[in-house]
Amino acid sequence: MIARVTLEIALRKEFDYLIPPELVDEVTIGTRVKIPFGPRQVTGCVTALVEHSPHTNLRAIVRVVGEPSLVTPRVLELARWIADYYCCAPEIALRSVLPEAVRKEKSGWRERLFVRSATPPGERPKLTARQEEVLAVLQARGEMPLQELVAAAETTAETVRRLEDKGLVTVAAEVSERDPYANEQILPTVPLTLDAEQTRALTAITTAMEKAAIPVDASAPAEPASAAAFLLHGVTGSGKTEVYLQAIAHALERGRGAIVLVPEIALTPQTVERFKARFSSGPLRTLVAVLHSHLSAGERHDEWHKIRQGRARIVIGARSAIFAPVEPLGLIIVDEEHEHSYKQEEAPRYHARDVAVVRGRRENSVVVLGSATPSLESYYNTKNGKYTLLEMPTRVDSKKMPVVRVVDMRQAARLEKGVPIFSPQLKEAITQRLERAEQTMLFLNRRGYSSSLQCPKCGYVAQCPNCSVSLTFHRRDDKLACHVCGHTAKVPSVCPEAKCRNPAIRYAGMGTERVEETLTKLFPKARIQRMDSDLMKRKDDYRRALGDFKIGKIDILVGTQMIAKGLHFENVTLVGVIYADLSLHMPDFRAGERTFQLLTQVAGRAGRGDIEGEVFVQAFTPFHPAIQFARRHDFAGFYDQELEFRAQLKYPPFTRVALLTLKSRSEEKLQFTADFLKVEVEKAAVGLKDLVIAGPAPAPLLRAESFYRYQIMLRTPQMPQLSRRLAALLTTLKLPDDVTLAVDVDPVNLA
Ligand code: ADP
Ligand code: ZN
Repeated sequence: MIARVTLEIALRKEFDYLIPPELVDEVTIGTRVKIPFGPRQVTGCVTALVEHSPHTNLRAIVRVVGEPSLVTPRVLELARWIADYYCCAPEIALRSVLPEAVRKEKSGWRERLFVRSATPPGERPKLTARQEEVLAVLQARGEMPLQELVAAAETTAETVRRLEDKGLVTVAAEVSERDPYANEQILPTVPLTLDAEQTRALTAITTAMEKAAIPVDASAPAEPASAAAFLLHGVTGSGKTEVYLQAIAHALERGRGAIVLVPEIALTPQTVERFKARFSSGPLRTLVAVLHSHLSAGERHDEWHKIRQGRARIVIGARSAIFAPVEPLGLIIVDEEHEHSYKQEEAPRYHARDVAVVRGRRENSVVVLGSATPSLESYYNTKNGKYTLLEMPTRVDSKKMPVVRVVDMRQAARLEKGVPIFSPQLKEAITQRLERAEQTMLFLNRRGYSSSLQCPKCGYVAQCPNCSVSLTFHRRDDKLACHVCGHTAKVPSVCPEAKCRNPAIRYAGMGTERVEETLTKLFPKARIQRMDSDLMKRKDDYRRALGDFKIGKIDILVGTQMIAKGLHFENVTLVGVIYADLSLHMPDFRAGERTFQLLTQVAGRAGRGDIEGEVFVQAFTPFHPAIQFARRHDFAGFYDQELEFRAQLKYPPFTRVALLTLKSRSEEKLQFTADFLKVEVEKAAVGLKDLVIAGPAPAPLLRAESFYRYQIMLRTPQMPQLSRRLAALLTTLKLPDDVTLAVDVDPVNLA
């Protein structure tokens, strides 16, 4: 038997090795192996077993690495699909499906010393008072880690060892699982009685699961599913999560597991709690594994193995959780499916929502994409029959959607001579909320104090030396910072231009820091908390701030997109959007869609309790369709007109995009290479129908981290064919040494 192996060093190639007889039982697809490669030994992963090899003089596998078969054959197939579709080397795709914490040989189970109480043979030996105390602490718990016992009984390891000598306790090394949520108190919950809309959605999902529930045989080739994906379009507060929970219960009852993807790690504390609470007891009791990038390598290792061993039947996580080895997999839920964080911004540049749909189809699992503001792509897929649309247009308990008022900031600017941060209307509304002890959330998607530092006399603007963006002023740290590369600079006290030296340089534009400062001046008694990535550096900061807000210790929460989504606070009756135009002016065909989604999501934070919510949207272009449709909560209206625009310009969802980005420190060389690349792409794509090639052109962010960037954008209705052609081109393409090329299929970030 011969094993086909990909190496962990990316070579876009697979290699054949003999399986020595003593390893035949251990080596299967997914097994990690040490193999001779040139003069070295390297690690690789077995991707296929074959009878014959086109090569002669094969070398043999040296040994197996780590625990057997960490990847299931099905997940391995998925990695292959990712490599093909997203045009990346197979070993890079493979690296993604197998997290580093699991791949690394050294990170393994953590062993700790555990102490248990024991009964010595014969008469109980005499103990000192201190020893009695320690024993009592232990006996209350039966067993505990040595470290914890020492801390809890305020004693030393020495004392515990004495007890061991007397036969009253045993001390032994044991695997101890790391649990990232160990310190949380979770109260069990029971299923709620669903309303009519929820019932209809759940029934559609469970019916599809029944149809898909053919006998599961992991070794059989994946069959095309009869049921496809659902798009659950439910307004904010319509109770989507409860539908997910009951759909998962249904999967568990049928002996199948579930994967739940949630976009932001920041959202997980509340979400994870809801899932753990539901499945922490009762007949469907199971561990809920959590996978995201904020876990330590050890925690990730343990969570992963809990899944592989089948002890955790539910997995919640960020995008890479789509590769979790849940088997058999009954259900995949992608919450907030429109979120861009599902797209990985480095190779393999996969989109977890799309991978979810592919995985679901291959493993016969039902896929539910949920959102209050579905992506245009998914919405379009319900129109062309690829997905089934499930709608929940009203809130639970028929709670009203908040009233959205758009404030024309041009008028506010006229009244106040200059642009105020708060319109009189919003100020008044905040005052009312403070009087009534209700809470307010204010949203501005830009951190820092001001977006630039300008000299009004000579026009100087403080620029990043490495990137084509202006530096943001951060008042608390008293420094200028680049939001692209992180470069920081001192704040000049006079204009740095030698001929100018004007002392009256000014801050232009605003960020959350400035909103917070202005708010403090306007409402000195209010308890205000800012939430953005400058302030919330650790997951505990975020949890603490949200916890304080929840129990009413904070009146006003000011934040970036960190507070826009998913949060549920009953006492929030006012939401203010400080500057709604911000996302409208991005050089991106999705700018309108993003603005609509953001406004709708932010507005959805208001009025989730008993009191009706009110939303103020401050804008300089108050009549823009994205703002007006959001004001009326008119999804269909927005989507229909946006689809028309996309169809006219041949943009997604009518086509798919492949974005080729070339980078170099030399702009001249870059221009030359970009022209050459375009010719090569044209040659490679000969015969592909309806291909639009735009560019080469400077990227919207021309310079980032000291590299110039040029782009070629390809749009086609037949992406798999184009991907194949591009992959072939990449293997032969010769670029100058200092020019690199990145291929992004279905990009969400066009900058
Ligand atoms: P969404 O995810 O659609 O924004 P949630 O699932 O967070 O909405 O539900 C909003 C609130 O309504 C939650 O507090 C949830 O517990 C509650 N809820 C959901 N379904 C029901 C129901 N059938 N009966 C009573 N309360 C419900
Ligand atoms: Zn920079």
